[in-house]
Amino acid sequence: MIQSEDYIYSKSAVARMLNVAQSAVTRLEKWPLNRPFDCSIIFVIVKGKRPRFWKKFDFLFHFADWRRSQSKELVVDRLMPNVFAVINEKKKSKYIATIRPDSITCNCEDYKNQVKFLAKAGVCKHGYAVLKNLGISKLSEYIKGNIYQQTLDNYKKQNAFKLTVMRTDAYSFAVQGSSTIHYCDLHPNIIKCSCTKYDTKKPNSEQFCTHGYAVLNYLGFTGNQQIKDYCLGFDWIVDD
Ligand SMILES: [Zn+2]
Ligand SMILES: [Zn+2]
Repeated sequence: MIQSEDYIYSKSAVARMLNVAQSAVTRLEKWPLNRPFDCSIIFVIVKGKRPRFWKKFDFLFHFADWRRSQSKELVVDRLMPNVFAVINEKKKSKYIATIRPDSITCNCEDYKNQVKFLAKAGVCKHGYAVLKNLGISKLSEYIKGNIYQQTLDNYKKQNAFKLTVMRTDAYSFAVQGSSTIHYCDLHPNIIKCSCTKYDTKKPNSEQFCTHGYAVLNYLGFTGNQQIKDYCLGFDWIVDD
């Protein structure tokens, strides 16, 4: 039976780390240690080499580093604000990676296995390609920096400039993209839009859609603090 940790502490990982064939790795055992923190080390025998112990850390480092290096040849194409196609042009393969606040999920086999076998799934090579596309190298940086929200906000802001805004009355706007038209209404803390279902538990700033940003631009709120400026200026906008 495959144990969860075998996905990290595997013969194939040793083979990759030593650049030898997997068949040359004849033995891999987890040895318990009587120490309070590091609960085990890995005993490895490779044909033609002296038997040795490996630290768990070596495997964990390799697990991420190998995927990160494999991600270099991949091409990333953003399909939706949070969805990316990750393409290997040589292999003609394509996987779909989705960013979430605390993970980068993917429909590839490796990611599915990580979910299945690891207590906490890491990142597959496609996920690393997406992180790199966002200017980040580690999942921990991505989570700590709240990059998810920043990424979505930036995407909406950039796309908002491509839309056409028409004011229909003091509070209402029609916002036109290439093929669709959406309707936005001004409210004191938010610009509501026909494209979004509103969740009263979420902060309003997270619920600004691209159309809302287009209306902000139309009203002249274009700086970094544009939502805050809008909330402060709401009373005089509708007086106009
Ligand atoms: Zn993947
Ligand atoms: Zn919208």
